[in-house]
Amino acid sequence: MISRRDELALNLESVHQQISHACAQSHRDASDIAVIAVTKTWPASDVALLSEIGVTDVGENRDQEARPKHDELSDLPLTWHAIGQLQTNKVKSVCEWADVLHSVDRQSLVSSLAKEVPKRAQPLGVFVQISLDEHPDDKRGGCHPGEFLAIAESLVAIEGIQLLGVMGVGPLIGDVHQAFAHLQEYSVILTQAFPQARFISAGMSDDFEIAIKYGATHLRIGSLILGHRSPDG
Ligand SMILES: *Cc1c(COP(=O)(O)O)cnc(C)c1O
Repeated sequence: MISRRDELALNLESVHQQISHACAQSHRDASDIAVIAVTKTWPASDVALLSEIGVTDVGENRDQEARPKHDELSDLPLTWHAIGQLQTNKVKSVCEWADVLHSVDRQSLVSSLAKEVPKRAQPLGVFVQISLDEHPDDKRGGCHPGEFLAIAESLVAIEGIQLLGVMGVGPLIGDVHQAFAHLQEYSVILTQAFPQARFISAGMSDDFEIAIKYGATHLRIGSLILGHRSPDG
């Protein structure tokens, strides 16, 4: 039987090949794209294997799960991304393990960050999550497109926050191309105000090739690398 390490290595290699292919079609440079391996629901041992085979960025969506994994693996050279919808009362804990936060979508989170980020030794990278939902039943998080500039302005005023760019989750119902095209437009608007905040966190296992077409720089890929999660993951 194939070892878990080999399985992860093969999956990762295949993802990188697909990224190269998508980049070639969009005339983009694959070195401009970061892959965040989304390890939610998978054990710390898998995260350790990913680190051994060259993964540098991992993503988690639940504070209660991520924190013990991070603490167990804190010696590994990994950048930890908090990617899930976030409750205000979790901000303190997330600030203790995450290096990058992808899901800031309201001013109440900004207020909590203003209290917690200054206690950190390292800066916190932050993406503003903007809703790409086109259907009211689709609730994948994110602020209304009319709000992201104000949220960004509040974020940059906080010492220790490095505003990185925009984040979006492709809609379950609707046109993913149109959704990622909108996100790219929001990115242009954000960089007019904050030129350094040029990154776009978009694309998951099912839609990362489309996200690359629309400028994604940070792909959040779980199941293609780690396998299918149980349905409640
Ligand atoms: C789970 C998750 C992903 C990864 O999803 P896959 O389909 O397994 O690649 C990406 N982004 C967010 C916000 C997630 O919660």
